[in-house]
Amino acid sequence: MDHFLYKNGILHAEDVPLPEIAAAVGTPFYVYSTATLTRHFRLFDEALEGMPHLVCYAMKAASNQAILKTLAELGAGMDVVSGGEYARAVAAGVPGDRIVFSGVGKTREEMRAALTGGIRQFNVESEPEMRALSEVAVSLGVKAPITIRVNPDVDAETHAKIATGKSENKFGIPISRARAVYAEAAALPGIDVVGIDVHIGSQLTKLAPYRNAFLKVAELTDALRADGHDIRRLDLGGGLGIPYTRDNEAPPLPIEYGNLIKEILGDKGCEIEIEPGRLVVGNAGLLVSEVIYVKEGEDRRFLILDAAMNDLIRPAMYDAHHDIEPVVEPAPGTERIAYDIVGPVCESGDTFAKGRHMTPLSDGDLVAFRSAGAYGAVMSSEYNSRPLIPEVLVKGDQFAVIRERPSFDEMIKRDTIPQWL
Ligand SMILES: *Cc1c(COP(=O)(O)O)cnc(C)c1O
Repeated sequence: MDHFLYKNGILHAEDVPLPEIAAAVGTPFYVYSTATLTRHFRLFDEALEGMPHLVCYAMKAASNQAILKTLAELGAGMDVVSGGEYARAVAAGVPGDRIVFSGVGKTREEMRAALTGGIRQFNVESEPEMRALSEVAVSLGVKAPITIRVNPDVDAETHAKIATGKSENKFGIPISRARAVYAEAAALPGIDVVGIDVHIGSQLTKLAPYRNAFLKVAELTDALRADGHDIRRLDLGGGLGIPYTRDNEAPPLPIEYGNLIKEILGDKGCEIEIEPGRLVVGNAGLLVSEVIYVKEGEDRRFLILDAAMNDLIRPAMYDAHHDIEPVVEPAPGTERIAYDIVGPVCESGDTFAKGRHMTPLSDGDLVAFRSAGAYGAVMSSEYNSRPLIPEVLVKGDQFAVIRERPSFDEMIKRDTIPQWL
């Protein structure tokens, strides 16, 4: 459920008509709904009620400070994957003991920053990383709390680019070697083993892969405890999928996911951590764009928008589908025609949809891409020297720009000319 509905024939973000935002900030832009963000975070928090838990929002899905602050105020922890994300979490007021650090390539500098600034745990993904972390912690005279990310070798049944839990993926250590790696961890100075971490992929639309992974985590918990490790936290990662189309997809609900966790891991006496990203913010954001031209091709009709692949790369990168709707509600019964919906970037890959059936549109009309809140703005670039587009946050009848569109001058000034030119 989200808070983007037609009211009086105009698509709104909560109580704000989208054309009002378009007039104020120009198109294209991203817009997020506070009520939807809040609702989605709470669904996870409530799904784990009755167990000690922390919902660590995976901020790589959308990391604007205003989004982070909204979630931090609800009690969210954060899952970060870089020094920059760690700094963003701290800047948004998230205490270190609510920040977990994931990622296969943490640098010593990133480790030092997190150990100094405060960290709940590092989710360690390899032995070399673990040894480096041990050295850094010893040099600072502290102990680094860690979980080790195990790769359970389960098929997440999702797009290949976002599956992470098979043995061919670069993530984690093979679960078959976990006991040996934990033994080494326990012997390293500067390391405090606190638990186990697993994350099998993103946009999961079934519970079965989770069940398979959690069963393996349960078994490993017992084995590691028998080996003498004090396993007290289980970080189960993120990945729960969202419906990208209205009609046919029905991914599991957070409550079903929570119940599965309780069923399989509820008796372990561990604190549970989860790291949802997409489900928290995906359907809390729209990309709003204006039609520049309708171009009649030889055998097809192109809808050329002012948004492009540099603003939303998911269709080009993951063959992703986004529902695209006119901001002015079409009259009931209006016939639909097929469009190839494209952006202005000089690449054929700059195509959002092919043969999409839409009610007729013309120059100047606004359209909204649904489910654009996650992996949208954060993956955007300035390719073709198209400025990063603004982000807007709505709360009730208020809206605010939470990231401004840079001017061409600001973009150009980031470059510097060497003295010999
Ligand atoms: C990407 C990622 C997440 C979030 O995944 P979603 O599909 O957005 O929920 C959580 N944990 C880790 C380690 C990740 O890499």
